[in-house]
Amino acid sequence: MSKFYVVATPIGNLGDITFRAVETLKSVDLILCEDTRETKKILNKYNINTSMMSYHTHSKLAKTDKIFELLSEGKNLALVSDAGTPGISDPGAMLVSKIKDNLRHSVDVIPVPGPTALITALSASGLPTHEFTFLGFLPHKKGRETLFKEIAQSGRTMVFYESPHRILKTLESLRKFCPNKKVCLARELTKIYEEFKTDPPVELLEYLKENPKKQKGEFTVLISD
Ligand code: SAM
Repeated sequence: MSKFYVVATPIGNLGDITFRAVETLKSVDLILCEDTRETKKILNKYNINTSMMSYHTHSKLAKTDKIFELLSEGKNLALVSDAGTPGISDPGAMLVSKIKDNLRHSVDVIPVPGPTALITALSASGLPTHEFTFLGFLPHKKGRETLFKEIAQSGRTMVFYESPHRILKTLESLRKFCPNKKVCLARELTKIYEEFKTDPPVELLEYLKENPKKQKGEFTVLISD
């Protein structure tokens, strides 16, 4: 059986990689990466000399055919994304699904777990974690208002990813639809400027507007009652 490893990589701090992830990346025949320049940073740090091939959301069908061919030849492959766990708001889920549908008798799909921003954020947010809903990235237009209404009604902790360009807009919507919820902005997790700030949306808006530097970086947003 060929092996297809789904390998989690750091979400910022390059130290956050497991021994098993390093060993796996060293041992496979090829690493499929979202962006080879990003993955190169990890390979350099851990002296991994394995060849890379790019694989991302817009990869052509021919790429999938090539991956299937390699697996059919008995090659072992690893899939990584730019950060965190492949397939979680990142490329990979469709590829894993296709492999499981078409090559299940000849390929083992093996997860090599590690960081993911949503769990990292939840773990130190102080918000309830016994039940939560992950929304990925919010839609920009269609369905957006409905989603904010659902967030307002929900008794569960809600978690989603947001870009720095849209964080103010999203906080405006949260102020409108759920002014009394607790919102935690988990920013730049595992990096130098890591910050958790939990407040009602109106206060977070004021804080970010007064401190434009705090609008930069990567955000995971968590909401609870
Ligand atoms: N696959 C990744 C994972 O397992 O978390 C998520 C990839 S998704 C394309 C990127 C989004 O995840 C960012 O826009 C941000 O919302 C969130 N994210 C990734 N790294 C983060 C970090 N260090 N701090 C806060 N949020 C982060």
